[in-house]
Amino acid sequence: MKKVLLFLLLFISLSLPAQNLETKFVCTYGEGGTPDLLCMQMQRSFSSGEDANEATKKILRVLGLAPNFIMVPCPNIANCAAVTLNDGFRYIVYDREFMQKISNAASNDWTSISILAHEIGHHLQGHTLRRTGNEESRKMELEADRFSGFVLQKLGAKLTDAQAAMNAIGHPEDDSYSSHPAKFKRLNAIKEGWNDAAGITNTPTTTTPETTTKIEVSKLDVEISDATSLNFHDVIQSDNFPMLGDSWNAGYNYKAAVYDYNHWYVFMQKDFGAWQAYRRRDNFPKDEIKELWNKNNSIITSLDYYNDEWSLVMTSFDNKFIKQRWSTNGQFPEEKIKESWKEGYYITEAAYGNGLWAIVFNKTNNYEKFTNQYYGRYDEFPKEKIKEYWDKNWFITTLKYLDGKWLLVMTEYADRNASNYMQRWNKTTEFPMDKLLKNDNEGLKLQSVTYGDGFWVTVMERWR
Ligand SMILES: [Zn+2]
Repeated sequence: MKKVLLFLLLFISLSLPAQNLETKFVCTYGEGGTPDLLCMQMQRSFSSGEDANEATKKILRVLGLAPNFIMVPCPNIANCAAVTLNDGFRYIVYDREFMQKISNAASNDWTSISILAHEIGHHLQGHTLRRTGNEESRKMELEADRFSGFVLQKLGAKLTDAQAAMNAIGHPEDDSYSSHPAKFKRLNAIKEGWNDAAGITNTPTTTTPETTTKIEVSKLDVEISDATSLNFHDVIQSDNFPMLGDSWNAGYNYKAAVYDYNHWYVFMQKDFGAWQAYRRRDNFPKDEIKELWNKNNSIITSLDYYNDEWSLVMTSFDNKFIKQRWSTNGQFPEEKIKESWKEGYYITEAAYGNGLWAIVFNKTNNYEKFTNQYYGRYDEFPKEKIKEYWDKNWFITTLKYLDGKWLLVMTEYADRNASNYMQRWNKTTEFPMDKLLKNDNEGLKLQSVTYGDGFWVTVMERWR
């Protein structure tokens, strides 16, 4: 590793001997994420023949301009930015993975083009020549959004295509202190530009947010196919932890979440529980659990360790009193599990973070009749094991990628067998929106979701 680093440093100093690069201006597509100069210095000599170059040419052709931007792919910035340096060149720095993620999330091929068009809009409108405060920055963002709407219409995109990228990323609910405007304003700016290009007169729109925009979320209610939408689920995506109020008010509860590459995916579900509380804490939230156990008889329904924090969800179910316990341990607690099984407590949730295993157990009772349980930890996804236990009418309770291994917990329930209950798992390398959609339309609900070892794994369930 050291050798590689040394080589890179040598390379940089050799290839760019005299010039001391300095950032003059950076404008990112969404909040946060700054391309570092080191990356730009390394990458700018390499980029050619990329899709991004082609897309840029396409955009400029609409305007009758020759391409004169330097496209720089930089990983890990989770953004796209128009940048000028003191070398006099105009750069567009982009994170391939970020662009791909938005494109996947929106299931729309226009997203990358619209983001690039936005950045080109900054350059062409002279935004990249001056530094500004937040207020002026927000104004410039809307100008760039308007520009991208205009270009996309000229390229033949529908208005919904032009707005797809914006719909797929998170934004502040209140933009008073941020450099980027609230989402509804940006969507409106894209619409104005698009209408302009289409020769449609823009009717003045009020800029008061509706009460429902009080939320920093981007919902995945994008068109996947024309007529279908989710029946039982609401999937919320955001760079920062999304506020859940809107979805809660619409009758959904938090079922599961995944945090990956600085991005949250929260899966909300209809008819799941009656009341919920959500907590995030640096340390294992034992006091919160105790307090919430007593409140509305709630129990832990989701426990994860994401982004250096424990993420706890507790849910109460009408008229159900379920006894629960948890254990934390530096190693996977085999003894504790055996002990708990003897006392009628079965694993219902597991998490690992910061060197600590946390296992949650529910006591078998009138509502949840556990009769037997099995667990295993695997390097490879345990599909044979799942099949073996399914064949015995045992079902997946927990399936997560934790501490570098798959943890599979399968349970025999007194009231479940193949004639009244079913499960299905899916393993994909891409965000499983289409699977979720398909299963949801067949009446299946999300039982669990995890991301690990390069795979998304969802388990869906249905009472027959
Ligand atoms: Zn911008």
